[in-house]
This record gives sequence, structure tokens and C-alpha cells, in this order.
Amino acid sequence: MLRGIKAEIDLDAAVHNLNAVRETANGLPVIAVVKADAYGHGAAEVAGAFEKAGASALAVAFVSEGAALRESGLKSPIVVLFDTSDIGGLFDFGLTPVVHDLKTAAAFSAEARKRGKVLDVHIKVDTGMGRLGLSGINDVLEAMGLPNLRAVGLMSHFSDADLTDMEFMKLQLDRFNSIREALKGKGLCPPLCHMANSAAVVTFRDSHLDAVRPGLMLYGCLPFKEGAEAALRPVMRAKAEILVLRKLKKGQPVSYARTFITTRETVAAVVAVGYADGYPRALSNRGRMIINGSPAPIMGRICMDLTVVDATDAVGVDAGDEAVLLGEGITAWEMAEAAGTIPYEILTGLGGKARRVCA
Ligand SMILES: *Cc1c(COP(=O)(O)O)cnc(C)c1O
Repeated sequence: MLRGIKAEIDLDAAVHNLNAVRETANGLPVIAVVKADAYGHGAAEVAGAFEKAGASALAVAFVSEGAALRESGLKSPIVVLFDTSDIGGLFDFGLTPVVHDLKTAAAFSAEARKRGKVLDVHIKVDTGMGRLGLSGINDVLEAMGLPNLRAVGLMSHFSDADLTDMEFMKLQLDRFNSIREALKGKGLCPPLCHMANSAAVVTFRDSHLDAVRPGLMLYGCLPFKEGAEAALRPVMRAKAEILVLRKLKKGQPVSYARTFITTRETVAAVVAVGYADGYPRALSNRGRMIINGSPAPIMGRICMDLTVVDATDAVGVDAGDEAVLLGEGITAWEMAEAAGTIPYEILTGLGGKARRVCA
């Protein structure tokens, strides 16, 4: 028996979502964010599909991720959003780093000079996220003045991924635009200004600028539960195998600490998936699976390798059959709400350790 999660990745759906982004952004270039192994979907395959479908660039968090994409044959510009530590790797793999710190920018410049090269970079300004980014126009000008660096992009990041505070998003965009205008005034503005994450792609048209930079929506999920419409298709379906079926009597406790007591004669399916596989323990007594098309609520605590569900309503089920964890009506949002988290964590968590197969 195979343990853990099997994730089916629908690359056609991913491409469909890329096209939906393009349509929403009126044909602007899309920098497709494929960090964290494409949000758990498998960066090589997903990024390959995005490249083929005409994404203008890919974005990863670390040099090692960019290097892996190059090794799998991808030719697109690859923006490295965070990692500035492996300067040699940036050159060796032809990656485009984000400058968010003057000291490392100077190191990029020195290395480029040593190699007799010019390194393309995107310059990041902090407009209110308080994480990474240069602090203002003076630092931007200093970074842009470094020899052997060519600023091809200017970017910033919204602190609201879910539009809880539209006013603050507007403030961030205003701060960004004032830097952009100042650079334009000097004839120094990089050609590609970009800021829009998924939330901004869908609902904040003014922030689209020269390119958009979504992640989550490419995987078929919006960052807010309701409000905006977008014709997205989920990309991941996750399943696990049923180890054994058991008949439990009414009044029997199930799993650790007896947090669930059966209220009827129950067919329990013991599924070979647990929190060690990235299935959130917070779904204990709250989540559900789908077995043969029928809902199978989780009974009791999720264990390290096993989860017990109520399969009484599932017709014709047998040991070795598959239980659907995500898909067939179970959305990343449903799981996230039940587990008290966000769909980003659900997708990266499930996909991170899964055996993935592309459809
Ligand atoms: C992850 C990330 C994105 C994508 O955000 P989504 O909310 O997934 O669309 C964009 N830009 C940066 C800098 C990021 O880290």
C-alpha cells in the first residue's frame, strides 16, 4: 500500500487560470509566481506549462528553486524574489534577483563587474509590507547607480493578500506610484513596474501597472472567500488510500483521547493519511473526505499516519479504494476554514509531501 497523499495536477487547468489572469489584466505580461514548489503543485511541471502558454516570467523565492527550473530546461526570465545569498548561482543559472537591500546590491554589482557582465535586477521598495524592500527613493537611486546592474523592473508587495483593507492597498500604491513618477521624471524608470498579487489582479485594476504578479489564483483559488468572480479551475486533486474498513457499534469512541463517540452503527474507513503527510491535524472532528461520491466526515483526532472517517453512507466501498481529500466539492477554502488557516497553507501543505502525477 502507498502511504500518504497522491496529488493529481491538472496542467490544463493551470493554463486556463493563467489565461484568466491575462484576460482580467487586459493582456498585460504575467510574472507567474511558482515559489514553494508552485504552491505545492510541482514547480518544474507547472512552470513548464506556464512558459509554454506564454507567461512572460516566472518568480521563485530562492536561487536553488531557480536553478532547479533551469536544470529542467526552462528558458523564461526567472525572478528570485527573496534570496540574495548565492550570488554565484544567480550568474551561473541566469537568474534575475530582486534587489531589496543595498549591501547585497553592492555585492551583486561587484560580482557582475568581476565577471565582466551586466546583471538584470528588479528593484523592490517597501511601501507598507514591512518585510523586504528598499525604504525610499534615495535608496532606490543608490541601487540604480551601482555599476553593472540594469534595473529591468521596479516592484513592491501588498500587505493585504485578501483585500481586508482596501484603503491601505491604495496608500501602498500611492507610495509606489510617487517613486515611479519621480524616476520617470529623471528618465530612470525601469520598464516593468509591478505590484499586483492575486487579490489586486481581481479587484484593484489601478495596481496592474506594467505587469501582474499573481500566485494563488493560478492554482485555481482566490485569496478571499467571496466577493469577486473569477472563472478559475482548481489545479490539485488530493487522494489517499483506505487501509481497512471496520464496523463500529453505537457509542464507541474513535481515535486518540476519545474526542468522537459514534452515534449510530458506523462503517469506519481508516485512511492511510495523517499529519505526517501534511494533512492538517486541525481538521480533527471538523473536516471531511469524499468516498465514492459520498461525504465521509472525519471522526476524532487525525493521527500521524492515519485518519478515521465515517464511510457509512458510501456505497460499495472497499479497502484499497481512494478517499478524496481535496476536490469533488471539497475546496482549499473549505479545508482552510475548517482548519483555521488560509488556502495557501492547505495547498503547500498537502502538495508539499504528496506523490504528484500530472494530468
Ligand atoms: C507570493 C508572492 C506573490 C503572489 O501572491 P498571491 O497572493 O499568491 O497572488 C507576489 N509577490 C510576492 C513578492 C510574493 O511573495
